[in-house]
Amino acid sequence: MSSTPNIPAPRNEPVLSYAPGSPERDAIKAALKKMSGEVVDIPLIIGGKEVRTGKTHPVVVPHRHSHVLAHVHQADARSLNQAVQAAERAWRDWSSWKFEDRAAVFIRAAELLAGPWRQILNASTMLGQSKTIFQAEIDAACELIDFWRFNVSFAEQLYANQPISSPGVWNRMEYRALEGFVYAITPFNFTAIGGNLAGTPALMGNTVVWKPAGTAALSNYYTMKLLEAAGLPPGVINFVPGDAVMVSERLLGDRKLAGVHFTGSTGVFQTLWRTVGEKIAHYAGYPRLVGETGGKDFVVAHPSADPEALAVALVRGAYEYQGQKCSAASRTYIPQSLWPEVRDRMIAMIKDIKVGDVADFRNFMGAVIDARSFGKLKGYLDQAAKDRGVSILAGGGADDRKGYFVEPTLIQVKDPKYRTMCEELFGPVLTAYVYKDADWRQTLKLVDGTSPYALTGAVFARDRAAVEQARTALRDAAGNFYVNDKPTGAVVGQQPFGGARASGTNDKAGSILNLVRWVSPRAMKETLVPPTDYRYPFMGAQ
Ligand code: NAD
Repeated sequence: MSSTPNIPAPRNEPVLSYAPGSPERDAIKAALKKMSGEVVDIPLIIGGKEVRTGKTHPVVVPHRHSHVLAHVHQADARSLNQAVQAAERAWRDWSSWKFEDRAAVFIRAAELLAGPWRQILNASTMLGQSKTIFQAEIDAACELIDFWRFNVSFAEQLYANQPISSPGVWNRMEYRALEGFVYAITPFNFTAIGGNLAGTPALMGNTVVWKPAGTAALSNYYTMKLLEAAGLPPGVINFVPGDAVMVSERLLGDRKLAGVHFTGSTGVFQTLWRTVGEKIAHYAGYPRLVGETGGKDFVVAHPSADPEALAVALVRGAYEYQGQKCSAASRTYIPQSLWPEVRDRMIAMIKDIKVGDVADFRNFMGAVIDARSFGKLKGYLDQAAKDRGVSILAGGGADDRKGYFVEPTLIQVKDPKYRTMCEELFGPVLTAYVYKDADWRQTLKLVDGTSPYALTGAVFARDRAAVEQARTALRDAAGNFYVNDKPTGAVVGQQPFGGARASGTNDKAGSILNLVRWVSPRAMKETLVPPTDYRYPFMGAQ
């Protein structure tokens, strides 16, 4: 029996409120309580089997680092060989599965996550990555559901893209999986990115070896279990937490490497690219390199901006999830005429922000992810306190006695090229440069030329001409550009995400453009009635 089934139309998963008295609030509180009392032993998952190497690393709660949530078994040379072999074995079947059967796994995974798995992924993200319930909900639940639902629909559109046929000929395009395995390397800051980077190549018929970030291992492990529960066959995604350098050395050194799907910092992606470049003659093909990396995201305000909306966007954009979003506002340019009001509004909000245990729902912020990040941020703050021409207007403190807490911090600089205006700090630190109102056009040039990144950015203006001037002058400064909105919070299907310059290959996660990278098309021409005479008509006479 054959058919061409319609894929269910995707819709964005509604964000639940978790307001007092709501059923979801009771459910997440219960899940947090249960998970807080467990210590999970996280194995590798290879070919559908749990593998324990015996060498483990702990996962701790960032806002209470004495609390161990899990022990994660670390991949070794033997298990990595097994993972590559399992991916190869699974590929033979999976890459030939009908699209609707592959799609069914991800559609079901999305529904399971919208329902019975929602609070498992939310609670593990809150505890393991120190997200408030709202930040966990928009990531681990809604964004991941959206990735899985929308990508299935985008894949259907891609497959429907077929060439024309001339008379007597039938042309076709077959969107094959890549030959070999895809290596997915994922960051700590979004649970959804883990499920998307491993899931998307798999949806397109590839098999994957997935190395999660150690600090996100708990939520990523549950993501893997959820995909299994949804019917993902053994070996299609192989979960191999472990030492990043060792795992990468083994996997990038494999002849069968067909692609790298990376999100993380710019330096790491450049190292991966360099390694692949050096080994290029060794591979069976040319590995696809897709990487979304760092940002130094800006908010530039025109003198016509609404100061109240601007101040709120800056506070939310810079401090939500402790500024640990690649899209977080981290540098802002504000005209002198607006600055006193914007500054005072921001300082008042910052004073009101509560930082602490994310299980206490009154807190707006939790802790930064680990000791390394804490140390890096403290270093920048201590230096800023000493540097001339730099004023810390709010925050500036950091305390790691209980958890890795860094205060929401507002810095003002005289030098628009001061290091916190240029470098990615990845924490709750916003630096402001105040410009003369008359220097609007020069300021746009400054925004464009200040950092090597080009991920997200925003303009605030009520004057329409100013919006257009910013849109034009900053054309290449951001892959996601916002008008009168904070530069964070991209939604799958609505604002496809990614940046250029040092921020990545801009293959737009959650869009058809990303799926294109995980297929190797075969063009097929069939001649319906082939010629039987080698001579052409023009040869009939001299
Ligand atoms: P990271 O680069 O430290 O780690 C990312 C992944 O790479 C992890 O799995 C890690 O274990 C691995 N890794 C680390 N060193 C490695 C090495 N030498 N070789 C191979 N793999 C290695 O990044 P992170 O701290 O997890 O995440 C934060 C970074 O990610 C920020 O720079 C942020 O801007 C970026 N990010 C970008 C986007 C985007 O869409 N552009 C989204 C989220 C995060």
